[in-house]
Amino acid sequence: MKQFKDMEIRELLYPNEYICDCGKTHRSTVKDIVIGKNVFPDLLETVKGYGVKSIMVFADRNTYEAAGKELLGKLENEGFTLNTYIYPQEQVTADSFSVGQAALHFAKDSDMVLGIGTGTINDVCKIMSSISGKPYVLYATGASMDGFASDTSSMVVDGLKFSVPSKAPDAIYSDVKVLAASPKRLTRAGIGDVLAKLVSLSEWRISNIVNGEYFCRNIHDLIMKSLDACRKNAEKYVSGDEDAMKEILEALILPGVAMAYAGVTRPASGMEHYFSHLWEMRALEFGYKEYMHGEQVGVGTLLALRVYDRLKGMKAPDRESAIEKRKTFSKEDWKKEIRAFLGNSAEEVIRTEERENRYDYDTYLKRLDSIILHWDEIMEIINSMPSEREIRGIMERIGAMTEPSEMGIQKEVVKDTFRYTKDVRNKYICSSLLFDIGLLDEVADELF
Ligand SMILES: [Zn+2]
Ligand SMILES: [Zn+2]
Repeated sequence: MKQFKDMEIRELLYPNEYICDCGKTHRSTVKDIVIGKNVFPDLLETVKGYGVKSIMVFADRNTYEAAGKELLGKLENEGFTLNTYIYPQEQVTADSFSVGQAALHFAKDSDMVLGIGTGTINDVCKIMSSISGKPYVLYATGASMDGFASDTSSMVVDGLKFSVPSKAPDAIYSDVKVLAASPKRLTRAGIGDVLAKLVSLSEWRISNIVNGEYFCRNIHDLIMKSLDACRKNAEKYVSGDEDAMKEILEALILPGVAMAYAGVTRPASGMEHYFSHLWEMRALEFGYKEYMHGEQVGVGTLLALRVYDRLKGMKAPDRESAIEKRKTFSKEDWKKEIRAFLGNSAEEVIRTEERENRYDYDTYLKRLDSIILHWDEIMEIINSMPSEREIRGIMERIGAMTEPSEMGIQKEVVKDTFRYTKDVRNKYICSSLLFDIGLLDEVADELF
């Protein structure tokens, strides 16, 4: 079988499917993706293929001006009836309110949903398509995050952030001219979300070694390829070079395809994302200012790499002292502390722990023995990771945020955030490993 990393993006899509060495048959529900200079003919062919007459269009004021007006003019010329809702607010946030607005303006006689925008518009449209059962085409206007092709929507519901099951777009089109003219802040954030994969891919491998968690080398290599390109070309992405814009948008679409292939979010997120999730939870709970997903994740990536730098070349952990340290852990204290840190959002985290029982002593011992047994393999992965310094250099050159303080996050909060990253989801990450070998608090005090 040809490797995924050697395929064009279209080859990875529906109806193609691949029986893989990892034991899974990989398939995506996305049917077409075209990023280029003149994508309208491809978009039109797809829309005509659905046999639709009337299209429900969602955009915000910026994306309508930047791309929507022109695209809708062309569709109108082709004789389609357009029901267009342009969000009136300056900033559309992915929450129940904006989904409510979309629902109230949804024209029932529409045969298709067309979203013009990036993260939030896409998240809302995925839900509208999923609820209405109508096909959904995304016209992407910026390269800001990697949720384009995933089948979930990141949403604030009743004051808490959830990954809501929705549906991936049936097709994605994007004009490189529109991308090149999009705000640089979006592209910088997108680069942060790509660089994050340095951490997530390594942690996927580490968990495979420690816990025997499912892993696919082929998917890993696919994402690694766009990651390598990003390390080389990040400056070109922010310069607005059209070919470079195609490359970064592809790098942000592929993780969605990879997650569908793998059936888990491992190829796209690890500890670096959990820094961001925790900051988001705190922003919602305590009313702090929110920053873009990719900005937070970019800073989280640097923090995570700092931890990995610290672990490089380390000798195998001492079993007895790890167990001694583990015995000082109290779940009741943990609950108290996480409630103080997260407020109401802590309840969801505590419920998850109660369901999964991750702090169970016997499974802990099993993991510790597995870590000690496989220490050299784990070290091989960690030693091969790029340094914080290298990635910080890239982020500085593109003018991205590099410090939590730029987002108003205090030093003490960073330390606690790091310690709680292991609790956000049931995913084995760097902080989980450090907890298991009894070094979490020590490393937290030393580095943050
Ligand atoms: Zn596979
Ligand atoms: Zn992300």
